[in-house]
Amino acid sequence: MNIGIVGLGLIGGSLGLDLRRLGHRVLGVSRRQQTCLVAKDLGAVDDASIDMTLMALAEVVFVCTPVEAIAPTVVELAALVSPNVIITDVGSVKMPVVDAVAHLWTNFVPGHPMAGTADAGIAAAIPDLFVRRPYVLTPTPTTPPEAVAVVAELARSLQADIYYSSPLMHDRAVAWISHLPVFVSASLLAAVTGEVDPEVLALAKQLASSGFGDTSRVGGGNPELGLMMAKYNRPQLLGTLQAYRRQVDRAISWLETEDWNALEQHLQQTHQARPEFL
Ligand code: NAP
Repeated sequence: MNIGIVGLGLIGGSLGLDLRRLGHRVLGVSRRQQTCLVAKDLGAVDDASIDMTLMALAEVVFVCTPVEAIAPTVVELAALVSPNVIITDVGSVKMPVVDAVAHLWTNFVPGHPMAGTADAGIAAAIPDLFVRRPYVLTPTPTTPPEAVAVVAELARSLQADIYYSSPLMHDRAVAWISHLPVFVSASLLAAVTGEVDPEVLALAKQLASSGFGDTSRVGGGNPELGLMMAKYNRPQLLGTLQAYRRQVDRAISWLETEDWNALEQHLQQTHQARPEFL
């Protein structure tokens, strides 16, 4: 199959590496010429260009640009590919993408491969990024089932685990397990660095170990990703942050009143809940 990838970064480049190895012909379009050259050198594409007309040869196009560029990219694609071409995206939020894009292209299949690393750009592309990782497809009632089946088959060929949900359910679920943790973790880092005694702060930095590493990792990640989550999943993120604040208030209240029974019960419940997620 001729597969197009627009946006040759971590996700687009990694997709290209795997899809080529599976025997597809991969055509890439990216913003910068240098990225196109590196993608070709790495073997992520058979051919690459900064000119979108290369996509006229594709049967399926993966839009792997940052979220804000997905809709403008589909507008450009719509002007040059034939109506039977399937366009899918990999954006980490789905409602804003579906709202902006679904009416532009009938054969549009919204998707989200939930895989990544701390790095970005074409140099970060790696093979097998999607193996045994969730790949969520969020079709709407008007998305053609045949188009969904084609994207699902491609995702399955990457050895990803396929899930289906509505765009809204997707955004609500990822707010809990992906976006809220970034803001909780960032708040933790902001609170710790706000310690006013320099000696305590210096000692804390020296003593920080795996527990602090686990809880601060996502808050200390790429600021652009956190901003994207806040901008594009604002209502869902606000709801989860408010729920989280209520939990922090409960913990403060148990400590203030020395209600150790309530606190113990709470920690028993969270101890039992964690394995259900991981
Ligand atoms: P990335 O590594 O920064 O790659 C995005 C690439 O898109 C950039 O390298 C850039 O290439 C290119 N680009 C930017 N604007 C473009 C435009 N207007 N037209 C064509 N190419 C453009 O980002 P990423 O992590 O792969 O994320 C890409 C998408 O995947 C996002 O929508 C994100 O929400 C989603 N996603 C990310 C992750 C993750 O963990 N990182 C996981 C799942 C889904 P140039 O070098 O040519 O400028």
